Amino acid sequence: MKLVKKLLLSDEVELRERLFRVILLSALLATVMAIVTSFFRPSTTGSVMMLLLMGMAMGIGLVCTFRYRNINMASYIMGFSLILIILPSSFLGHGGIYGGAAVWFVMGIFYVFLMFEGPRLVFFVCLALMSYGVTYYISYKYPELVTPLESVSAIYVDSFFSICSVAMVIGIMEKYQIKIYKEEKNKVVRQKEELEINAMSKTSFFANMSHEIRTPINTIIGLNEVILRSEISDEVAQNAIDIQNASKMLLELINDILDISQIETDKMEIIPVNYSSKDMFMELIDMIRVRMNEKNLDFLLDIDESLPAVLYGDERRIKQIILNLLTNAVKYTIRGSVTLSVECEYIAADKISMKVAVQDTGIGIKTENIDYLFDVFSRISEDGTRKIEGSGLGLPIVKQLVDLMGGTITVDSIYTKGSVFTVTIEQTVIDTTPIGIGAFSEKTENGRKPYVQSFEAPEARVLVVDDAEMNLVVVKKLLEATKVQIDTASSASECLERTLEKSYDLIILDYQMPEMDGVATMNAVKVQQNGLCRTAKFIVLTASAMMDKDLNYQELGFDGYIVKPINGRDMETEILRLLPPDIVEYRYINTDETLINPIQLINSRKLKRICITTDTLCDLPKEVLMQHDVKVMYLYIRTEHGRFCDTKEIDASSLKQYISTTSSMAHTEFATVEEFEQFFGEALLEADEIIHISSSSALVSSYELAKQAARGHAHVHVIDSGQISSGLGMIILSAANMVKEGKRVHEIIDSIEQLGKDLHVSLMLPSLKIISQRGYVRSRAGLIYEKLQLHPVLKMVNRKLTIVGVTYGNLESAWKKYIRSILRSSSKIDKELIVVTYAGLNVKQLELLVREIKKKVPFKTIMVNESSVSNACNSGYKSVAISYLKRKK
Ligand code: ADP
Repeated sequence: MKLVKKLLLSDEVELRERLFRVILLSALLATVMAIVTSFFRPSTTGSVMMLLLMGMAMGIGLVCTFRYRNINMASYIMGFSLILIILPSSFLGHGGIYGGAAVWFVMGIFYVFLMFEGPRLVFFVCLALMSYGVTYYISYKYPELVTPLESVSAIYVDSFFSICSVAMVIGIMEKYQIKIYKEEKNKVVRQKEELEINAMSKTSFFANMSHEIRTPINTIIGLNEVILRSEISDEVAQNAIDIQNASKMLLELINDILDISQIETDKMEIIPVNYSSKDMFMELIDMIRVRMNEKNLDFLLDIDESLPAVLYGDERRIKQIILNLLTNAVKYTIRGSVTLSVECEYIAADKISMKVAVQDTGIGIKTENIDYLFDVFSRISEDGTRKIEGSGLGLPIVKQLVDLMGGTITVDSIYTKGSVFTVTIEQTVIDTTPIGIGAFSEKTENGRKPYVQSFEAPEARVLVVDDAEMNLVVVKKLLEATKVQIDTASSASECLERTLEKSYDLIILDYQMPEMDGVATMNAVKVQQNGLCRTAKFIVLTASAMMDKDLNYQELGFDGYIVKPINGRDMETEILRLLPPDIVEYRYINTDETLINPIQLINSRKLKRICITTDTLCDLPKEVLMQHDVKVMYLYIRTEHGRFCDTKEIDASSLKQYISTTSSMAHTEFATVEEFEQFFGEALLEADEIIHISSSSALVSSYELAKQAARGHAHVHVIDSGQISSGLGMIILSAANMVKEGKRVHEIIDSIEQLGKDLHVSLMLPSLKIISQRGYVRSRAGLIYEKLQLHPVLKMVNRKLTIVGVTYGNLESAWKKYIRSILRSSSKIDKELIVVTYAGLNVKQLELLVREIKKKVPFKTIMVNESSVSNACNSGYKSVAISYLKRKK
């Protein structure tokens, strides 16, 4: 039994192989059964031989899988012999349809479905059906080839046993599969549980480790502050500052690792509280200014005056997000400035969308790296960043936090020029009072100045309780100058002894202690029989990363809190707040707040919400483009004498002259991805969002270039108009009008797609010469058109420039024919506007076009404009393109 289990159920054998073994074994059993039963019923020698043959084939198959482990070979041999030899011959030799052999055909197909997949399955199914069909056909057409069973009873017995055997095999297989399925399912459940237990223990390991690591860092930072306060040489002071910075970095890293592990185990939670928006930004500014100053960067501040005073959201996490972006901006900027801008927009009476953007003039990010910025540990190893310390954890955490808050984060960056990270989140408004102008005063605390204690209270009695001895030393030393009387206790029980002996004004309790934690100790003191400190004030001492998650100190009954690593100044402030005022003998009034690199308050509000951009392939008159605020990316014209900026440095007529006098060719050349990036960067200075509409990507590569450049800009949307240049013009006009109407980006983009379908755009060329030179059509056709004075009319059909018609004769009569044919069904044309673009036509010829158009359809506006040089280069002189909108049904 054990052996059977090992051979058939062992996990080490692939599922298909196990199935093969089971099917073969059960079929072998069925065959043996049939052989045995053949002795009890009248059977021909032929049929017994057939059964023996089948048994042998199965035996060989089994040897192949058990001995040689060659399942492929075995399954093929078995497949072919079953379908082509065993089943047809046992059918013919065993009574044909008057017997049980036909039932075994089912077995063949069942086998094929179990053993094969994909094309092999299709092949074997077809083979089986063909083989069965042929066998049936033979038995029908040539009944003499079928060996009949000797009697009616034999037919019944054979049929009965065959049905039983096949049904048994199929039943066993089905049971076996269900068994395997159940086992695999249980295995997956077990593995999932194990993984969850592992993840849990990983998280608690991280939580414990971070506590363990934080304790000594707390000591290092605290005692280092004591050193910095004392009379020391500059050199020692510098060393102490370096120790301080290194310890803080280590602490940040531990907090990041803790955050990531919480995110990975879905333990990260958003804990909203009421908070003062002004205080939050003030704190952020204070936190980053010292670093800004150290690198001599300008700090520009642009905070919306209408920002509501009190908001409801996870203040600590929002601060973490913004601080992270600001820290990166400072880290990756060598010179220039960092701008923090905040905008708010009411989306409901009590809800705002708060948009925080951190912009720097730093090293920027390569477009190909933008996609990986938010992946864990995806530190971009550029020469620029390799020298800069960092773990690559910051942005993934930021992204996760923003996601948890239901917000968005986007990046616009130009490599070597700078980046903008924009976070948008919704916040509930508690107090709608706007923070107003000048909310952010210029003064802020200086990083390095001689320490002066903020108060003295020799009468005050303070008890500090912490299981880490060194923490007690740090607190004591940091409070030395305030002259308060400090007693210490290193456990809850020791604390409860002290509170029986002495009355304390204030008790500072570590949150995480063995035996009894801070909360339990406080509760015990508050109800202690004969206790002298039942009405004392309590401060909790906690590691910052755990603070909001596990503890809302006020709800727990504490009066204040101090975050580890302890900052001497913060601790003094908290103690002073809670001490009875009459025992405070001296307070330090700070009149000397020195300025460091003053913050510049600016207003960088963008002028526009959306800006439409395109390239010079768009054929619209300059004035129209300006009037609609459309920005144009220039293409270049390459001649033998260099590269010229289309329209700016060269115009169509000068190019024509150049070509006719020098008989040389000119080509259009697109700007580089970097130039496009620069173009988008500049446009983004004026508008929040850019919609760049480009000519059909099937014709020109400028769409791809723009698309690549836009990968670095989350607010640049590149659209393939699918049109040739004159159609592009119509689309640009509509898009610009939609911007004016206040439509949103996605509405405009959707409309552009629809517009493409409602647009008529065609182009009549004087000859096929230029486009055949450009490779659009075969050159022989070009020659024929030229000789016969044929002028092709082209349109975009299925994203291909296609010749849809031909006009003939001299150009002027051809133009007339062209206009008449495209304006034939006047009732289906929107009569608002028609755009005619030409290259190299004179005034008389233009008048002829306009006259002809007016004759056919009374358009309100006929916009006639000379095509850009790029288009003239592409389609040749004397080409005319016409576009108009079809009337909506
Ligand atoms: P860290 O800065 O610790 O390496 P982050 O996750 O904060 O990790 O950032 C990931 C990477 O993104 C950085 O290594 C850097 O290459 C790039 N990066 C982030 N912010 C900026 C920025 N403002 N300017 C340029 N590169 C940045």
